[in-house]
Amino acid sequence: MDHFQFRDGVLHAEDVPLPAIAEAVGTPVYVYSRATLIRHAKVFREALSLLDNAHIAFAVKANPNLAVLKVLGDEGLGADVVSGGELTRALAAGIAPSEIVFSGVGKTHAELIQGIEAGIGQFNLESEEEGYELSLIAQRLGQRIPCALRVNPDVDARTHEKISTGRAENKFGVPLDRATEIYAALSAEPGLEMRGIAVHIGSQLTSMEPLETAFGKVGALIAELRAHGCRVTHADLGGGLGVPYRKDESTPSPAEYGAMVARVTRGWDVRLSFEPGRVITGNAGVLLTRVIRTKRSGNGPPFVVVDAAMNDLARPAMYGAWHDFDAVTPTGERMTAHIVGPICETGDTFAMDREIDAVAAGDLAVFRTAGAYGATMASSYNSRGFVPEVLVDGGRFAVVADRIAPAEILEAERVPEWL
Ligand SMILES: *Cc1c(COP(=O)(O)O)cnc(C)c1O
Repeated sequence: MDHFQFRDGVLHAEDVPLPAIAEAVGTPVYVYSRATLIRHAKVFREALSLLDNAHIAFAVKANPNLAVLKVLGDEGLGADVVSGGELTRALAAGIAPSEIVFSGVGKTHAELIQGIEAGIGQFNLESEEEGYELSLIAQRLGQRIPCALRVNPDVDARTHEKISTGRAENKFGVPLDRATEIYAALSAEPGLEMRGIAVHIGSQLTSMEPLETAFGKVGALIAELRAHGCRVTHADLGGGLGVPYRKDESTPSPAEYGAMVARVTRGWDVRLSFEPGRVITGNAGVLLTRVIRTKRSGNGPPFVVVDAAMNDLARPAMYGAWHDFDAVTPTGERMTAHIVGPICETGDTFAMDREIDAVAAGDLAVFRTAGAYGATMASSYNSRGFVPEVLVDGGRFAVVADRIAPAEILEAERVPEWL
């Protein structure tokens, strides 16, 4: 459920009519609902209430906006970060270092130091080599760092190949059949406190089966590690729960997920943690756009050219992803059209042959479910600026990320004097 609903024929974010935001901030613009963020955080926590003291770390990469992180941090969520930049953001949003998990396959030496100095709660190691490097730094700094070892369970998440992370051929984690040996070796490192196993098999999972299979393998591994005399007190089950991008799509609910986890992890005797991203922020945001014009070409459906493009919302171009498109003030009439942005790439296409609300030049519309992997993937391709972000709270709203104009980007460029 989200708080983007029609009232008197006008799409609202909570109590704010979207035309008011377009008027004040311009388009395109991302609009987030604070009430929806809070609701999703609560629903997810409730879904895990069968577990003893589950730790929830929001996957910052899904939506790293500072105000969004503040809302989620205030709801008691920690943070799962995958770069020094995300770590800086999570701390700036007021999330306690002890609630932060550092994941990522390519943490640099500087990022390992940054994480240690910040005093973060757990490093998720993605290789044996990373473990040795971290241990050396930790010893030099006179510390012992809480760590989990990320394993690659070789499970097909049955999602888009670009967001699948748990197959043997993917770069993430260590192979399951070497995990015991590596965990034992790292447990002997003086700079590390090996405390658990981490797993994350992919994103936008629409079936629970691959998750259950992966968790089952983690359970077996924990038993094996203990049989080898290793200490295991934690398990991090990652994120990945999908959200419905289409009105007619159904995905496992957080409650079903929680019940499955409770069943599969019974008797593990560890503290469980989770790294949800998309399921928390996906439906808490829309990308508000204005139709520039419609045009006909050939005999096919017309093109609706909107002012948002693949540089603002990359998912359709990158993954062939679907985002529902709704007029902000629909007339009730429908049309079939291609929806495209202004960028000089055929890939800048949001939808082909889509039945949509009839729209014309100047009309406002939204791409729904744009609160995760939206603004954060933006680029300035075609020398377009960066889209602003707005957070709505009841009847008020605030710009929580400024629009960055093309001229401001140009300011960072130099022509050397020898040219
Ligand atoms: C991306 C990512 C997540 C979040 O995935 P969602 O599908 O958004 O829930 C969690 N953990 C890790 C390690 C990730 O890379």
